[in-house]
Amino acid sequence: MSELKPRKLVSVQEHLRDQVANALRAALIAGELRPGVIYSAPTLAAEYGVSATPVREAMLDLAHEGLVESVRNKGFRVTELSERDLDEFTEIRALIEIPTVGKVARSATREQLEALRPTAEEIVAAARAGDLIGYLEADRRFHLGLLALAGNSRLVETVGDLRKRSRLYGLTELAEAGALVASAREHAELLDFMLAGDAAAAEEHMRHHLAHVRSLWAARKQETPEQKSPARKLNAR
Ligand SMILES: [Zn+2]
Repeated sequence: MSELKPRKLVSVQEHLRDQVANALRAALIAGELRPGVIYSAPTLAAEYGVSATPVREAMLDLAHEGLVESVRNKGFRVTELSERDLDEFTEIRALIEIPTVGKVARSATREQLEALRPTAEEIVAAARAGDLIGYLEADRRFHLGLLALAGNSRLVETVGDLRKRSRLYGLTELAEAGALVASAREHAELLDFMLAGDAAAAEEHMRHHLAHVRSLWAARKQETPEQKSPARKLNAR
């Protein structure tokens, strides 16, 4: 009996850590936690009605993903992503995802591709509902599921990591304005090109999709003029 008890406590604790981490990710995406601001674990713990320990642990998970950074004796600062950071993440994703989509278009079976269609529809439904968390989660499953068909698990891991690091912040207004819906529809269109066996069109569509996602970030940035940087002006040319 004394051997079972601690094990159960540990699992409850781990579950709480995940719950807090998910709540914090949601707050980041909704723009409730702001880039550059330092948040202390006890303050957040009070808001979520939990102790500081799972908040600290959850923050360590987010720090590992590059979403926050630890500030000695104070708490955690939400990482600021510059325009250049976003350009670089998008460039690497393009280098990986565009040719891989072409490769998969030539090799995947109809069944494998059709298996992704419900996820493509889920992305549109989430965008329509303004459900950003649902949108990002379904979008992640679609892109990684498609890349997985190329059979390189490290490639999938790498893109998954890039996606975590370039997580969209403060997109609530865009979602409410329906700006995500057009981008969401591109997933089903991509599947259609692949099912038609048109690798070149699939690659071109993925190039367009990634540029589209990047432009949604740029639109979001324009709403916070204090974050304008020289890099931002360069991009505006
Ligand atoms: Zn997408």
